[in-house]
Amino acid sequence: MTATQVVDLAIIGSGSGNSIPDDRFADTSIAIFEEGAYGGTCLNVGCIPTKMFVYAAEVAEIAAHGARLGVNARIESVDWPGIVERVFGRIDPISQGGKEYRVDRCDNVTVYSSHVEFDGTDDEGRYRLVTADGATVLAHEVVLAAGSRAVIPPVIAESGVRYHTNDDVMRLPQLPERLVIVGSGYIAAEFAHVFGALGSQVSIIARGPALLRKQDADISNRFTQIACDKWDVHLETGIEAAENLPGGGVRLHLTGRDGSRSQLDADVLLVATGRKPNGDRLNLSSVGVELDDEGRVRCDEHGRTAARGVWTLGDVSSPYQLKHVANHEERVVQANLLKGWDADDLVAFDHRFVPAAVFTHPQIASVGLTEDEARTAGHDITVKVQAYGDVAYGWAMEDTTGFCKVIAERGTGRILGTHIIGPQAPTVIQPVIQAMSFGQTALEVARGQYWIHPAMPEVLENALLGLEI
Ligand SMILES: Cc1cc2nc3c(=O)[nH]c(=O)nc-3n(C[C@H](O)[C@H](O)[C@H](O)COP(=O)(O)OP(=O)(O)OC[C@H]3O[C@@H](n4cnc5c(N)ncnc54)[C@H](O)[C@@H]3O)c2cc1C
Repeated sequence: MTATQVVDLAIIGSGSGNSIPDDRFADTSIAIFEEGAYGGTCLNVGCIPTKMFVYAAEVAEIAAHGARLGVNARIESVDWPGIVERVFGRIDPISQGGKEYRVDRCDNVTVYSSHVEFDGTDDEGRYRLVTADGATVLAHEVVLAAGSRAVIPPVIAESGVRYHTNDDVMRLPQLPERLVIVGSGYIAAEFAHVFGALGSQVSIIARGPALLRKQDADISNRFTQIACDKWDVHLETGIEAAENLPGGGVRLHLTGRDGSRSQLDADVLLVATGRKPNGDRLNLSSVGVELDDEGRVRCDEHGRTAARGVWTLGDVSSPYQLKHVANHEERVVQANLLKGWDADDLVAFDHRFVPAAVFTHPQIASVGLTEDEARTAGHDITVKVQAYGDVAYGWAMEDTTGFCKVIAERGTGRILGTHIIGPQAPTVIQPVIQAMSFGQTALEVARGQYWIHPAMPEVLENALLGLEI
């Protein structure tokens, strides 16, 4: 495609951005640009495939530990190619179908399967967008929904060592015997669980003294202990060099905190050291859109950037790199596009109580302030930690490591934060997200409703009741 197309609206990125055009935009001419797989990170290389692998890993984990419940099970084998096929046999057609829907069934939408960047504006103030394969689109308004990408530490990027990221590790042809993961955040923790439970020997290289350090300190410490018991975890360890081994596999040259040096060999290297917003690859300076110190597109609470008519949402600009946040921001920007840039009733992003989960083993979920954050902010707090092992469902599961920690304001009972590590944590936490969002106090949510007995959420009910308000 080389001709210039003029559109009312251009959308860069087909993740959450793809949800903007609905019936209300039937009379709006739209261009959607997507350089990768249609549907974005969550669908193709993020939340959804990882959780499909995580579920298989859960089944393996339960089977492997059935004996303590009197069920002597054994995993005969793991059909990795079969798991890959199950996951992507479902996902790839959804991605393809999403694109076909836009191409074949939406007359007002043109899909450009190419990288795109801004090239300033034309005489009429329309944004000029130029694709890598030579097409030019002039747009009155633009939505930046370009997401983020994996960060690769220079020592790895520059070494020429073979490495994988979330983009391709889920399509490995075989389950690696030895996997080394560089990183200590949630993506590292989820993949460690997946590969570890399915049979790989997992090593983790973490720069800091604990894993999942953005979590509440008690959660991070508990998870780090559990991880050290089952995986080969190297804390406070740096990578000096990385190299390919002649027969395949990789070698990392490590330095410990005390300056000690060691080598670690593995069949596969997975890099999970964080994600960088993609705003630096859009030539935004040509239209006056700014990035903040962390590389995120700067915007106001309505999703408006410094350039009139250029909106933004999701990982490219949000302080929260989470799909439920990207979707929320997409709905806000969608509503505001319909209202118009200068409308005085624009909708605002709601970032008050953003929950997050880590689908590792055990699962982790959190919302609100950590204990340290609450204390630093000067709140007078009461904290209750309730073990899964002290409620009936925890007995049923013989759980020994899970707990639920609730932080509330003394005097009012306002819930400030909740942090859970244990079975089904992302499900167990939901009543607190609801309570915080609708302003219910700890006692109101604990005593204002029935809690099914003896279900897992009783751990949360007891934590709420245990607070010394
Ligand atoms: C391994 C992994 C697991 C995750 N698990 C979870 C989870 O369990 N729960 C959760 O809430 N979140 C999870 N996330 C985060 C979640 O995937 C993202 O927050 C979400 O997908 C962001 O959506 P988005 O629309 O902002 O960006 P994306 O979905 O990334 O969409 C942006 C799209 O823009 C395209 N693009 C970028 N630049 C250009 C350009 N210049 N030209 C053309 N196209 C371009 C990209 O190819 C991409 O497809 C996970 C992420 C990863 C990596």
